[in-house]
Amino acid sequence: MELNVVKGIGPQLERKLNNLNIYSVEDLLENYPYRYNIINLVDIRNVKDNEVCSIKVTIIDAPRVQYIKKNFNRLSFAASSSNVIFNVVIFNRAFMKNNLKVGRSIVLIGKYNHLKNLFTASAIKFNFEGNKIEPVYHLSEGINNTTISKLMEEALKKDCYYDYIPQEFVQKYKFISKKESLEKIHMPKNNEDIKKATLRLKYEELFNFLFKINYLKKLNNKAIGIKREISLNSKKEFLDSLPFELTPDQLKAIDEIYTDLVSQNRMNRLVLGDVGSGKTIVATYAIYVNFLSGYQSALMAPTEILAMQHYKSLKNILEHFHIEVVLLTGSMKAKEKREVLGKIKSGDANLIIGTHALISDSVEFHNLGLVVTDEQHRFGVGQRNTLRDKGQTPDVLYLSATPIPRTYALTIYGDLDLSIIKTKPKGRKEIITVLKKESEIKDVLLKMLDELKLGHQIYVVSPLVETNEGMDLKSVFDLEEKMKLAFNNVVPIGILHGKLKGKEKDEIMKEFKDGKIKILISTTVIEVGVDVPNSTMIVIYNAERFGLATLHQLRGRVGRNDVQSYCYLVSNKDAQRLKVLEDSNDGFYISEKDFEMRGQGDLFGVRQSGDATFKIANLKTDYQILLQAKKDSEEYLNSELYLNNDYYKNEIKKINFIN
Ligand code: ADP
Ligand code: MG
Repeated sequence: MELNVVKGIGPQLERKLNNLNIYSVEDLLENYPYRYNIINLVDIRNVKDNEVCSIKVTIIDAPRVQYIKKNFNRLSFAASSSNVIFNVVIFNRAFMKNNLKVGRSIVLIGKYNHLKNLFTASAIKFNFEGNKIEPVYHLSEGINNTTISKLMEEALKKDCYYDYIPQEFVQKYKFISKKESLEKIHMPKNNEDIKKATLRLKYEELFNFLFKINYLKKLNNKAIGIKREISLNSKKEFLDSLPFELTPDQLKAIDEIYTDLVSQNRMNRLVLGDVGSGKTIVATYAIYVNFLSGYQSALMAPTEILAMQHYKSLKNILEHFHIEVVLLTGSMKAKEKREVLGKIKSGDANLIIGTHALISDSVEFHNLGLVVTDEQHRFGVGQRNTLRDKGQTPDVLYLSATPIPRTYALTIYGDLDLSIIKTKPKGRKEIITVLKKESEIKDVLLKMLDELKLGHQIYVVSPLVETNEGMDLKSVFDLEEKMKLAFNNVVPIGILHGKLKGKEKDEIMKEFKDGKIKILISTTVIEVGVDVPNSTMIVIYNAERFGLATLHQLRGRVGRNDVQSYCYLVSNKDAQRLKVLEDSNDGFYISEKDFEMRGQGDLFGVRQSGDATFKIANLKTDYQILLQAKKDSEEYLNSELYLNNDYYKNEIKKINFIN
């Protein structure tokens, strides 16, 4: 149902809701609160310093606004409550000034400091009756919490929702109705309401998701692919051509891949392995086997930098077997591109490496038998399917350096087979990781100097491109200034960030690879897979801004040869969380910790990938519900009860269609 049927939603508000990814009444109702404010009014005389509390106050003088920086202001006024008179400050609420009339009674939520006689508010409530539970929603510019709450009330009147839990299971678990659960989640009267509604909605979401995953898995297991016949001796030839011995996990992975490739079934496998665990060579083996059986392979990387890097290293290895490797990227010249496209079409090119350009319509393959996608989570499902559909029934191999715990992988990637690489290649030194406060930056700079003197290169990472006023963060440009000062302009410094054009990025990256740039200051664009073995130190500013998994990925940029490497995390906050990295170099362990500490929300970009977006379920805390939903949805699929359910019947039709 369209948004404009809801009372109060005009074109302007509709656009703002779109910014929150809300496009229909259903979306609106599924925009669940991420937490609740329990407003329990207390007496100001009884509150402890620095304890969050809610108090009712009367405004006793007109508010003043101070504009401190762009996007940063401070509003203050005097107020009284229970005969105590005190000052109130609240940041970035200049727009409320006109509503704060002298004599008006309002509720403040915030912290009180008795000594300073100062109340630092985080929220102001204008119309408030009694103690209550207030849902808190994700907001975007121009929409406040009250607006959303009001819209929910109106939207609920439209009776626009669908119950995704099959009747059988609603009865089995005595769930409250969908309507009731939506009312309770958006307008709870007590904790019990929230609990009941949450449980039902989580189960519903997981059931719906897992039903489809189960079906995909079933489909994949049945899918007829290419059956290859290759002599067993070929494996030995491949291994003998390498300058190193594969680790036990790499060997296991290539055996699993071999089995997939020679079987009649279509391969649909994910190789999960820590940074530097050597996934590329495993994929290279798949490409080699695919070549021997007479088919083309495609390797898709998330960035041009990575595509180029793969091109160089794979060409090296595969030349030995007379495999013709070509590179296809968006920034190629037209003539060059035409030539490459010709080779792809004629079958002269055996391995095609590229970025998204690979799936553009102009690319015609001769006989695509295998698709490898590196850093799998960077691609959306749609893109993957497009590429797969270019061949007849190509086998698919995904590589991912985001070592999520196995149990979670089984759900998120429940439709894929898994090969896990845990062992690291021999002779790798552990990266020494050190936590430093900003006040200790001198230690970091001295260490940088040591490494530079040894002829090594350094990454410096910042969370921001531009300085963000009001936030105490260092941008890449701030850091450039700092580094130039520190190293007296003598070492060449380069800057890399997402706002540069692809070509500019590649040039800077190339200069760094060639050793012309000694210090590369960057945002997280270097995160994925970049390989410059001569860099032995990475300094990450405002490390508290990153998830542990991301930090671990970033750290993986160094330690790429047998020289000792270092990672310095600079942060004034969050020492306990960051310490996990000081203690461990094991990506799987770190990902479990990250998961525990942050929950699924920011999990390795899984959320952004569109592979598993949960609106209410949380993979970590809801594991029991998840297991139950998994079991139930399997049962539902296998018993074919779903044939009586229009929704699930239709979903299966859709899945069949795109596969
Ligand atoms: P990732 O899993 O992060 O993609 P890569 O495949 O890029 O890691 O491998 C990192 C480096 O380790 C590469 O330079 C690669 O040649 C090397 N490497 C891979 N496997 C081994 C091994 N078994 N022994 C020694 N070096 C290896
Ligand atoms: Mg890689």
